[in-house]
Amino acid sequence: MPQDLPALEAARSSVLRRRPGSIVAAFRRCGKPNCHCALPDSLGHGPQLQFSYKKDNKTHTVNLANPAAFQKVEQEIPNTETSSNSAGN
Ligand SMILES: [Zn+2]
Repeated sequence: MPQDLPALEAARSSVLRRRPGSIVAAFRRCGKPNCHCALPDSLGHGPQLQFSYKKDNKTHTVNLANPAAFQKVEQEIPNTETSSNSAGN
């Protein structure tokens, strides 16, 4: 599935630069027994970028795999760079 990578990169930097949280690179295993990730010395699939942030005293993690993920981050995490005096929506 092709994605517009430059747009994705731009969205990522503009969204994440202004939000409190951290980006982590996660490796995961898909669970298929015959996949390379099932080998003991395999890191798994990845790295997959995730954005980890705190909201309501809970830690949330958003997979940054597609543009929709950035929209989720934008909606859920207040932008700390500009004053948030808009009424929202
Ligand atoms: Zn796998």
